[in-house]
Amino acid sequence: MDDVSGALAVADRLRSPDINLDVSCKLCQHHSETTCHVLFGCRAAEDMLRCANIPNPSSGFSTMLEENLSFMLDLIEKRAISEDTRLAIPWLLWNI
Ligand SMILES: [Zn+2]
Repeated sequence: MDDVSGALAVADRLRSPDINLDVSCKLCQHHSETTCHVLFGCRAAEDMLRCANIPNPSSGFSTMLEENLSFMLDLIEKRAISEDTRLAIPWLLWNI
């Protein structure tokens, strides 16, 4: 499963046999535009998370959306991270 809810209109979700759609990421043009890529794998997402001082998993973000979302939800609970950063996580994911 690539998408938790299917709510994001990424190219990979919009693809169908009847629609000829370019599924490459519109931001980087190097990967398929999946929800996981747009939120965690794309350079634009990486830049945004880095600017917000959001820590990365020690081995980098996974290609599994659920693993990455679980990591981010765990961060929200970590008191070692500033409250401002923790509170920014849902908003960052919403706005990417
Ligand atoms: Zn990309």
